[in-house]
Order: sequence, then C-alpha cells, then structure tokens
Amino acid sequence: MEPLADTPERAEIRDAVRAICDRFDDQYWAEKDRTHSFPFEFAKAIADGGWLGIAMPEEYGGAGLGVTEAAIMMQVVGGSAGAFAACSTVHINIFGLHPIVKHGTDKQRKDWLPSIIDGSSRACFGVTEPDAGLDTSKIKTRAVLKGDRYIVHGQKIWTSTAQQADKIVLLARTKPIEECVKPADGLSLFYADVDRSKVEIREILKMGRHAVNSNQVFIDGLEIPIEHRIGEEGRGFRYILDSLNPERILNAAEIVGMGRRALAKAAAYAKERVVFGRPIGKNQSIQHPLAENWSELYAAELMTLHAAELYDAGKPCGAQANAAKYLAADAGFRACDRAMRTHGGMGYAAEFHIERYFREMMAVQLAPVSREMILCFIAERELGLPKSY
Ligand SMILES: Cc1cc2nc3c(=O)[nH]c(=O)nc-3n(C[C@H](O)[C@H](O)[C@H](O)COP(=O)(O)OP(=O)(O)OC[C@H]3O[C@@H](n4cnc5c(N)ncnc54)[C@H](O)[C@@H]3O)c2cc1C
Repeated sequence: MEPLADTPERAEIRDAVRAICDRFDDQYWAEKDRTHSFPFEFAKAIADGGWLGIAMPEEYGGAGLGVTEAAIMMQVVGGSAGAFAACSTVHINIFGLHPIVKHGTDKQRKDWLPSIIDGSSRACFGVTEPDAGLDTSKIKTRAVLKGDRYIVHGQKIWTSTAQQADKIVLLARTKPIEECVKPADGLSLFYADVDRSKVEIREILKMGRHAVNSNQVFIDGLEIPIEHRIGEEGRGFRYILDSLNPERILNAAEIVGMGRRALAKAAAYAKERVVFGRPIGKNQSIQHPLAENWSELYAAELMTLHAAELYDAGKPCGAQANAAKYLAADAGFRACDRAMRTHGGMGYAAEFHIERYFREMMAVQLAPVSREMILCFIAERELGLPKSY
C-alpha cells in the first residue's frame, strides 16, 4: 500500500531504501539485539547509499530534499526487519543536526555536515537529564565560559548511541535560571567532541532495542571551544524547538512502518495457522482487529504525510506533527499487541520476532515525547484549554 500523494521520485526513494534494508533480515537484527551489538554494517550500507544526507543541503553533500522524502525513507527503515533499532541507528544523522543547518555558521556547516552525511562521524543527542525529565528548561548541566572555551559539568541520561558517537549535540545552561526572564532562556546548544577523558558513558540496561545503546553520560570538565557553540548564547532551547516538528514527523513515519510490518506478519500467520480445522484468520475475532489496525495505520500515515507536506511548504504544523506521532504510536502499539495475540504462544517466542518488535514499540510510546505531553500540547494550542505543563 503506497500513499496517494506518491510521485516517481518518492517511489524511487522507497524502492532504493528498501533494497538496502532487505539485505539485513530478521536473523541479522535478532542477533544484534541478542548480543547488544551496534549494527555497523547496516549504518555503513545506508551511509554508502548516500541516504544520511537526504534532508541536508546539497552544497555539503546532501540531497536537499524535504521532510516528506525523509519521512518516506524512515517509514521504509521502520518497516524493515530492524524496526526501531534500524531507525535509531540513523535517525540523528537524518535530521538531528538541523540546528546546525539552520543556525550554524558557514564554517560550522562545512566542517561538520559532510562527515555526518558520509557516515564517518556519528553524533548523539544530549538533552534529557535525570532531574528534569520532560521539563527541559530545568536541566542542570552547566557550561561556563572561561576565555575562549566553555567548561561543562553535568549529567545526561538516555543519550542514544553515545557508545559509538564521536560528537554530541549538547544542551547546557549558560546563565542561571534565576537570572533569566523565562525558564527556557539561558540555555545554549553545542556541537562538542566526546572527549572520553572528561566524559564517562554508562549503558542503561533496558527492555529492548538492544542493538542501539542508550546511556548515562557524566560530564566532568569537558572543554568546548567557543566556536563550537551553535547560534547565539542563551537561545539553545529555541533552536531545539525548531527541530521538534520534523522530529515528530519522522518518528511517526518510523512507527507506521514498524506497525505495518507487525500487521503483515500477523495477517500471514492468520492465513496459514490452522486450529480447529480452519485457518485462525477465518475467525472474525482474529480478522476484525487486524482490519481495524490496517485502517488506523493508514490514517496515521496520511496524517504524517500531511504534517510533512505542511512543514515543507513552510506552514505551521505543530498540531499535525504531534497528532501524527500520537496516532502512529497508538496504532503501532495495537499492531504489535494484535500480532502477538494472533501468533498465540509463538508470538512470545523469539523465533517469530514479534516480541522484539513489541519491545521496541514500547520505547516509542515514551520517547522522544509521551502521549500525555502531546495531548497537553493539542489541548492548549488547538482547544484553547489552560496550559498544564
Ligand atoms: C529508548 C530511549 C531512547 C532515548 N534517547 C534519547 C536521546 O538520544 N537523547 C535524549 O536527550 N533523550 C533520549 N531519551 C529520553 C526521552 O526523550 C525521555 O525519556 C522522554 O523525553 C521522557 O522523559 P522522562 O523519561 O524523564 O519522563 P518524565 O518527564 O519523568 O515523565 C514521566 C511521565 O509523566 C508524564 N508527565 C510529566 N509531566 C506531565 C504533565 N504535565 N501532564 C501529563 N503527564 C505528564 C509523562 O508523559 C511521562 O509519562 C530516550 C528515551 C528512551 C526510552
């Protein structure tokens, strides 16, 4: 099933990305998951295909395409055997450096973007902190300017791919919150080297997506040259907000892909598994939830594409991008849940991979934004209800 708004270029993207993803099957990803090993081969294949630069400016080696095309790409990646692990392997390279594209200097773009696009450099994203959670303005990591460099102390949590990253997009407070007019002022954004003599990285044991690590990051005296600050001092939170809508859109597309894969496996199993003398898919209690889920995933896909097209047209899309993530996460969760139930006991067995998809689908219920915060945002912005966060 392809979206209505398809063009030959979009179909080409889908086919080319699928051809790469198909080289990495369920066995490959199950093994990476079992051994907690980073999928370097997959990362290299995507980079070698030139796909990391899909939404990056052409002058730095990118393809200069929009979020719509990036979403189409990431839906294919999410729908591959690698599910969320595959998405997380490449996600930050696709749009995570948008603050540099938009607010960096020419020199910064020239110095940093080509190596991200060709895959020779890997960045991680250090925003979340243990004591701040979703209330980002309360982060405590402090960057103090001394001469021509900032000295950073603090702690980040959940930083994905930090084990492999040589760079970190780091949000830190440069002005004490008490001296700021608004809590979100006084935060600055940096693109820093992960200097392991000043940064300790400890992997967090988690439920799934074991191929891609998430970490606690302890920063003790990291030195960041002033020319590694992105944009103006004190405006870092705003730069992050700029990237939130594309982030939601890509995330929604990934989840739709993941959901479709689980649903397809469920339908295939329902056709072939015979119990009480007939395929289980002949029972409406099996087929109706799958048909319902097909509809939900389609609706989530259309909302995702709509939000992407609004974004690429330069129109406001905050509510649509958030709604797309909300609908996708809900539909994606139900896809994995139904796939598990349709497979019966075998859904719980690693051999059928449904339990791996299910574990990965749980992560996108919580991160990068929870359904509660999305609903808070829509209630406030679209329904005029009082702000609750
Ligand atoms: C697998 C994984 C990978 C991640 N990777 C990264 C990464 O690479 N970089 C990074 O910076 N972060 C990363 N994160 C962190 C992620 O973005 C956060 O977990 C997420 O933002 C939620 O923050 P929290 O866990 O502190 O939840 P909390 O802020 O503690 O919230 C807990 C719960 O309370 C709810 N809640 C809080 N306030 C309200 C309110 N006002 N109204 C209603 N409900 C509310 C939330 O919705 C949530 O359900 C990752 C997380 C996971 C699980």
